[in-house]
Order: sequence, then C-alpha cells, then structure tokens
Amino acid sequence: MDYSVLTELYEKLENVPSKLTKTAILVEFLRKVPTSELQKVVLLVQGRVYPSYSEQELGIASQMMMKAISKATGLTVSHVEDKLKRTGDLGLSAEESVKSKKQSTLLKRKLTVDYVFENLRKLSTVTGSGSQDKKLNIISELVVSAKPNEARYIVRTILGDLRVGTAEGIIRDAIAGAFLIDEKSSKEEKENAVNAVENAWSLLNNYGEVAELAKMKGIKGLQKVGIQLGKPLQVMLGIAAENIETVVKDFGEILAEFKYDGMRIVIQKKGDKFWLFTRRQEDVTKQFPDIVEFARKSLKAKECVVEGEALGIDLKTGYPLPFQILSQRAHRKYDIEKMAKEIPVQVNLFDIMYVNGKSLFNEPLKERRKELKKIVNPINGKFQLAKFIITNDVKKIEEFYEDAISNKQEGLMLKVLDSPYVFGRHVETMYKIKPVMENLDLAIIGATWGEGGRVRWLTSYILGCKDPDTGNLLEVGMMSTGLSEDQYDDMTKKLKPLIINEKGRTVYVKPKIIVEVGYQEIQKSPNYNSGYALRFPRFIRERSLDKSEPDTLNRVVSLFRSQGRLG
Ligand code: AMP
Repeated sequence: MDYSVLTELYEKLENVPSKLTKTAILVEFLRKVPTSELQKVVLLVQGRVYPSYSEQELGIASQMMMKAISKATGLTVSHVEDKLKRTGDLGLSAEESVKSKKQSTLLKRKLTVDYVFENLRKLSTVTGSGSQDKKLNIISELVVSAKPNEARYIVRTILGDLRVGTAEGIIRDAIAGAFLIDEKSSKEEKENAVNAVENAWSLLNNYGEVAELAKMKGIKGLQKVGIQLGKPLQVMLGIAAENIETVVKDFGEILAEFKYDGMRIVIQKKGDKFWLFTRRQEDVTKQFPDIVEFARKSLKAKECVVEGEALGIDLKTGYPLPFQILSQRAHRKYDIEKMAKEIPVQVNLFDIMYVNGKSLFNEPLKERRKELKKIVNPINGKFQLAKFIITNDVKKIEEFYEDAISNKQEGLMLKVLDSPYVFGRHVETMYKIKPVMENLDLAIIGATWGEGGRVRWLTSYILGCKDPDTGNLLEVGMMSTGLSEDQYDDMTKKLKPLIINEKGRTVYVKPKIIVEVGYQEIQKSPNYNSGYALRFPRFIRERSLDKSEPDTLNRVVSLFRSQGRLG
C-alpha cells in the first residue's frame, strides 16, 4: 500500500472532530487494508510503530528532527526553527519546508507503508558510534522522498505526536465495526463485539494483533485469547466508594483489605523465568531484582501470574515510604543493587489470574484467593498476602480501616467475593475507601507555556498559599490537570496581563486569580518554599468572584496533619 493512501486517511481524521465520524472513516478504511499489512497499518494509525508496552524507542528529539528536515530540504536549521515557532508543530514545519524545497527531486522514491514502517523501526535499532548520523540519514531520506503532507505525518510519527485524534476507544470500535459487525447487527451483538476486542486487547496490548485476529478468526478467536506469559496486561481498576456502609448494604459479606500506597505490580513466572510489570505495562523486572528473588523463593507454582502492591519500606521506622521514593527505583538504569539496599521493598499480594496452564480470571475472587494462598510461601514482611478480613459487619470493617490508617497505609479496598477479574476496566466490584481531603483555595503565582498543540496557552500553574505572618505567597505545587482547552484559553487570557516577570518558559504573575484545587494528599517537600506539596493537584473552579484570599499555610499544615487520622 502506498503511504499516500494512509496520509489521505490521516488528513480526513485530522479534519473531523466527531468520534463517531472518525470511527466510521476508520471502519471503511480497515476493511480495505490487505491482511498482510493490517498490523502495521493499525499501529501507524495510532501514530506508533511498536505496541505501547514495547521498550523500543525511536529516541529522536526535536533538535535532531530540525537538522534532518534541514538536511532533506536544503533550508537552514534556523529557518526550520522559525517555522516551528510559528506553527508549534514540527510536522507542519516539515510540510512547509518540503513545499519550499530547494533540492532536486532526483533522489525521490515512492513511499510505501512497508518502507516507511521499516525505516521508522530502524531508528530504534541503530546504536553505537555514529548512530546519530545514521538516524539523521534515515529521517532525511524519508523526508526527501515525501510529498509535503507525507512529511508532516512522518515527522509527527517519529516524534510520537500524530495529532489525528485516534484514541484507543476509537480504534477498538473501528476494529469491531470493520470485521465483526455490520448495520444489521443488534445492540447486543455490537456490545459483544466491542467487548471481545477489548478483552483481547487487555491481554495482547497490541491493536495490530487484535485487528488481524478479528479479521481472521472473528469474535470466537478474540474470546479465546488467554494470558500471554512475558507480556504485560491491563489490570483491573476499582472505583471510589461513598462509604463502607453502602458497599456492605449492596453486597453483604465482602473482603476488606489494606489499601497500600505503593506501586501495583504483576508478577509472572514461567519455570525459572520471571517478569514484573507495572500498572502501566512497563517491564520493571531489571529494576527489582529483590522482588524477583522473593518470587523465586516464594511462588510454588511452575507457572503463574499474580498481582500485588509493592511498597518501599523505611529502614528506620519499618513504615511505608511515600510512593515517590519507591518510584525512583522503577526507572533506574544503573546502581540498581545499591538502590535495592537503600529502599527495600515489601510485596503484598492480592490476586492471581493464571496458574499452571489454567486461566483463573473468570473464577470468583474467593476461589482465586484460595489458589493464591496455595501457591504462596510467605516471606514475612517481604513477600506476603495482603492483610484482609471477610465479613458483613460494618463495625469490624471500620476498625480494620482504622488499623490500616494507623499503620500508615492509605485506606481499604472492599472487594466483592464472587466477582471475576476483568482486565483493563474500572469495575463495580472493587471499591476504594480512603480519607477524603478537603479542597484548598490557592493563588496562581506563576505558570509555564505548554508544548505541542498547547504552545499558545499557559498550561501549568504554580500554586501559592499565604504565609499568615508576612502575607507572602508560598509555593505548594504545580497544577496542570482538570482544565478543558477552553479553560486553558480563558486562564491564559486572564494571566497574560498579570505577568510581572519571565524566565525561560515560566512566567510569574500578580496573585490575582484564586482557584479551588483538589488533590490526593499533602506531602512534605523541599521543592517548594512552603515546605509542602500537593500530590496530583487538579483544577476544580476559579474562585475570584466569591473569594479573593488564598488559604493560609496553617490550613495546609493542619490538613497535612489530619491525613494520619480517620477521615
Ligand atoms: P487509586 O490509585 O487510588 O485509584 O487506587 C487503586 C490502586 O490501589 C491500585 O491500582 C493498586 O495499585 C493500589 N492498591 C493498594 N492496595 C490494593 C489492594 N489490596 N487491592 C487492589 N489494589 C490495591
């Protein structure tokens, strides 16, 4: 297939905002793609050449891209950079550059999907000395042969920012629409098809493979997909519960379990081989040799997939360390053994999806727990079953909750005993109970300019609370979520006239705008001059109209202290 056929599709997708129309366009398109190219096309439509879990990276930064565009078009790098400043998008800069190209077209060749795909993959495999030059050549050769709009999408794909709005839900629905259903299908058939696609995707993590399977083997084929040892999977997610009482009223006897504030970890074992995956499907096996060792000693089954929460443990107190400290380990490439000694981990297991050739995810939780208990030889304090009780007594669960909080854990999970394990979904059979934090009113005292499609807006906001003694504003965090595009636009318009100082991409503003901010918790932090930081701050609403004063540091401190108590 010619690459231009794909770019035509990209242009169509980029120009229609509606999800339904995008899906319909994709359905038509996918039906026409030859089977041999389907996997590649489905990856490319998502703007990637490897499935999301893959560790292969193209590793091209914008600086190198500008050089490649310059090399291919004969324009100077600063010329390309000017275009970037104007458009905020290197893809468009490449397109414009190719249009105004000074070089001859002798070197041009017709680009096919195969050729582009293989060359993009090559970018991840060239290593060693001279690899930068080799990468530069690969990209510029592609751009030399590209028509202007092809250059736009090649460059965006390499930079991992395709901008045609093909979110995972759209790809899922399009695969179902193209290969499993038609206009005559009933609502139920449609739902079944979408569920089958989603089920296969949760286990394969690659819509390319899922599409081929859907086309060749239909719904039955997708439903047969089982656990793939060595590949990450999409974990099951819970939802927040109103309170303990409502959950017990709805379900009766339930399993209440400590909710640990650590890192979710899926441990896979096949003989003497082990894999560790995070909730975001990252392979962290190398980063946690200690967990592999525990698993080797403790897991009795020949093959299994179990799940739990890994916690960093404070060597001095024995209490859990804040999540950020453990997460430093997850991305370490060197000094791994040293880090493992400094930040020892504890794994608390709470589920099992597979054992010795048998999938368990359709079994009820109470059966899965029996299996888990059978195959785990606990190593006390290091690799053990999560702490739980099974009861329908609200009072007992409340006491257990207090027990969790006083042990410095996050709260409880309440789980329905006869529920299956549903991959990749928020389910109504697993509830989180944790202290609710009151929102804070804070002043915006600075902001940074966005990137990519958001260059025109200030998109991260420095938040400040008031020092009650001096009246000065003290930083307590940086907020960049919770706003819609319109709200970014509106906020930017309001902040621009308030700018008093600029440093690089950061601006400092008069503290005129007060916002209500939600967050998960407050932590001590040396990074901000208040000494505290909000974890996951998110915009709730602007308060300037009804309130002109930010909260004080005293309130931040008292909320910080109240976290240790029952909320
Ligand atoms: P949250 O991140 O607040 O939405 O809570 C969900 C997360 O809690 C899960 O992704 C797990 O990483 C974590 N968690 C801690 N303890 C448990 C447990 N006992 N069962 C399930 N998830 C748990």
